[in-house]
Parts: sequence; C-alpha cells; structure tokens
Amino acid sequence: MHTITIIGGGASGTLLAIQLIRLNQQQQPLTIHLVESRPQPGRGVAYSAASLTHRLNVPAGKMSAFPQEPQHFHRWLLSRGHALEADAFVPRRWYGDYLAALLEESLAGNAAAVTLQLHEDEAVDVSHATGGLVVQLASGQQLPSDQVVLAFGNFLPPYLRGGSQEYRSHPGYQHNPWDPQLADKIPVGARVLIIGMGLTAVDTILSLHEAGHRGLIHAISTHGWAPAVHELGHSYPSFSAELAGKTSVRELLRIVRRHLALAQQSGSNWRAVVDALRPDTQALWQGLPLVEKRRFMRHLRRIWDVSRHRMPAECAAVLAELEAAGQLQRLTGRINNIEPAADGLQVSYRRHDDQHSLTVDVLINCTGSESDFARLEQPLVRNLLAKGLIQPDALRLGLQAGPDGQLGPRLYTLGTALKGVLWESTAMPEIRSQAQQLAARLLAGE
Ligand SMILES: Cc1cc2nc3c(=O)[nH]c(=O)nc-3n(C[C@H](O)[C@H](O)[C@H](O)COP(=O)(O)OP(=O)(O)OC[C@H]3O[C@@H](n4cnc5c(N)ncnc54)[C@H](O)[C@@H]3O)c2cc1C
Repeated sequence: MHTITIIGGGASGTLLAIQLIRLNQQQQPLTIHLVESRPQPGRGVAYSAASLTHRLNVPAGKMSAFPQEPQHFHRWLLSRGHALEADAFVPRRWYGDYLAALLEESLAGNAAAVTLQLHEDEAVDVSHATGGLVVQLASGQQLPSDQVVLAFGNFLPPYLRGGSQEYRSHPGYQHNPWDPQLADKIPVGARVLIIGMGLTAVDTILSLHEAGHRGLIHAISTHGWAPAVHELGHSYPSFSAELAGKTSVRELLRIVRRHLALAQQSGSNWRAVVDALRPDTQALWQGLPLVEKRRFMRHLRRIWDVSRHRMPAECAAVLAELEAAGQLQRLTGRINNIEPAADGLQVSYRRHDDQHSLTVDVLINCTGSESDFARLEQPLVRNLLAKGLIQPDALRLGLQAGPDGQLGPRLYTLGTALKGVLWESTAMPEIRSQAQQLAARLLAGE
C-alpha cells in the first residue's frame, strides 16, 4: 500500500489529491491523507470567500483545474446553469464549489483503488521514521506516510515591525483580512484604515460597501498605487527568443519597455505584453543571479505586482464610486507606529520627510501573506525549521526547494512556498501544472 499525506487542503492540496486519483492508472492501492484544519477541502483562504462580490482575478476560461483541458472550469459553470462567457470574472466561492465537486467525482470513478481520508485537523510535525515519514496531528493521531506534501498556501499577514505592539490585542485591530465574517464584525459607522492596497484590500472595501458601511475608509500603501484594472480582448505575440538567456534585470527591462512601446503603437495594450511574459517568467527568474533578483525586488516588485495582479472592472467601478463620493480615501506613506488611544487606534505614518497621524476605530491588515518562514509561528513550520527539514529561501519569499517542489527525501511542496524558487507560483494556472507533475512523481515513488 502506497500512502501519501498532503498537509493543507486548500486549492493546491485538493488539486494534488484529485490528480493522484486521476493519474493512478495502474490502479495501485493508494491511501491519501488530506489534512486540513478547515471543515471543507478545496476552499482554503482564497475560495472560502462568503461574499459573491469577491471575484476571481483570472477569467473563468483560464481557471481550469487541468492544464490539458483549459475550458474545463468554464464548461463546469455552464453545466451548472451559469450562462457566462469564458472571460467572466466569477465569484471565488464558485471555484471552491468546483474543486470540491471534482474531488468527489474523481473518487467516485476510482473508489476501488484509492482511499481518501480527510482529517479535519492541524498537522503539527513531520518526522523521518524507518522507510518513510510520520505526520503528527494536533489531535494526537499519527499518519505513517511514504511521501508528504506541504501545501501550506497563504499565511496570515505579518505584524508591523518595530514600534509598540500593544495594538495587536486591541478589539479594533483585524489581523485576518480573509475572515469570511470580517465585514459583519465592523460597525457601519466605524472609521476604518486598511493597510495595503492590493487585491485583498479591494475585496475588503467591496465587503464593507456590501455590508452598507457608512464610515470613512482610508487605505494606505507605500506607493499609493491600486491594482491595475483588467482590459480583455488584447493580444501580443511572445518575445521569448529575445528574453532567453538574459541574466540582468536592466537588460530584461529594456526589452520589455521596447515591447510596451510597440504594443502601444500597434493598438494593443501593455497588459497583453505583461501576459505574454507569463510562460517565460519562471525560467527567467531561475536564470537570474541572486543579486539581480534582489535588484528586481527593490526596484520593480511593486510595479510588477500592480500590473500583473489586476482587478476586474466591476470591482474598480465600485472603488471609483466610493472615491468620488469621498468615502474612500487613499493615502501614501509607511506606517511606523500603531498605538491604542482613548478613542480608537492611533496610526503614525511617514510620507517623504513628513510625519502624519490618523485615529481610526478599525484597522485591517491587508499587507498579504507572511512569506518569511522564519517569522511564522505555526507549530508545523517551527518544528520543521528546528529539524532542518525546511529552510527559508534567500529572499524570504518561501522555501528552499528544487523547481519541482522537492524539499528533501520524500518531502515536497507546491504553490506559494515555491515563490522564491519560481516567482510565478501562487495562482491556479501555475499550481494546476505543479499538481499534475508532482502527482506523477509521487505515484512513480520518487
Ligand atoms: C484572497 C485571495 C484571492 C486569490 N484569488 C485568486 C484567483 O482569483 N485566481 C488565482 O489563480 N489565484 C488566486 N489566488 C492565489 C491563491 O493563492 C491560489 O489560487 C490558491 O488559493 C492557493 O491555494 P493553496 O491551497 O496553495 O493555499 P490556501 O488557499 O492558503 O490553502 C492552504 C490551506 O492549507 C491549510 N493548512 C495550512 N497549514 C496547515 C496545517 N499545518 N494543518 C492543516 N491545514 C493546514 C489552511 O487551513 C488552508 O486551508 C488568491 C489568493 C488569495 C489569498
């Protein structure tokens, strides 16, 4: 009997289980343990969203679970009575429904050979044992396994570094921006400050609006930029050949700039140039020396993030409406202290050489998943670090691993933890390929 334990039953872990079941063509007896602390697999952080205003940031036609069947998710939507075009940005909750349905379907077709055991539990440790690994669960159960996959996904955001830390326990401070009940916890008249202005901040603003929020909403970020807005219908040819073998950020930027200008002249759009880079991004990143990766992080990361991770036009329209009405105000600056005050939380921030401050009732941390494993407090992470079974990568974006996700003998990861290795590794178009390749490897007993 071959036993594989997957820790984390979000989209990555669930997709890996689905691929293991589908690819087990030899019909070898296989047990899959899927350990997930949430009640349902397939949802994770991204697809547990309660609000239908929280949309996928990728069109339905590009969100298939299977690399070889690109229209699979769109066809599934149509089969469920959602008469939508492939370029629609559908609610994220539906994607969680899709993955959960796929897991059930794959099991129904392979029930004889595969046993899937769902553990609603937290994995707290992994140890080497004779002939394999043992996963320790918080409930006390142990899962002897031939191979283990760490599909941790997204962690809660980091706390502010430095300054007073008393704000952490203040009732107005919201550390989990992905809590599906978040908007219900915020009084409609509250003065709100959102830290960060990426896609999670956009979702948070949409949830507040949906809940009838009337108070002033500020959103602060170091550059003051919001994610760009999707504009579909443009295309741009690949320019892979020009990029191949380039190992300097400056050189790459020069090539990309030339294509941005060409796109504009030819009536295309800069977004199509960014999208044309996607198939090459992982190889380009892996080819850059560490010093060049650091250069990219220093000078280009922010502009990359807002250009690459775009929001649907429907979301941008709500933001524009709130800004026009004066209810949403964007601030530029770097927060350097947060302190409980008599009437809320006092937030101090710096913009250029000027110090500013603002008092709010509610502060929501939308700075994104903590990527530095050395700073995480999750017991599993701490135990694996202490044993030397995982190490943070040099840029503190994820874990040191092979490009195929191997962390060590019998131990693998996929998805977000591979960001430092591959850069482009957090969205479904990449995760679905990783899940398929990893499943094939695991089944081959590698
Ligand atoms: C808000 C948000 C929206 C996004 N929208 C999109 C989108 O529209 N399109 C797209 O392609 N990508 C999107 N992404 C990227 C997203 O990271 C991936 O699409 C996908 O959700 C990643 O799934 P995951 O399973 O790796 O991570 P997660 O969704 O974070 O799931 C990981 C799961 O592992 C569990 N877990 C972790 N540690 C343990 C443990 N020790 N024991 C038990 N369980 C554990 C957690 O409970 C969690 O459920 C979004 C990300 C976020 C955060």
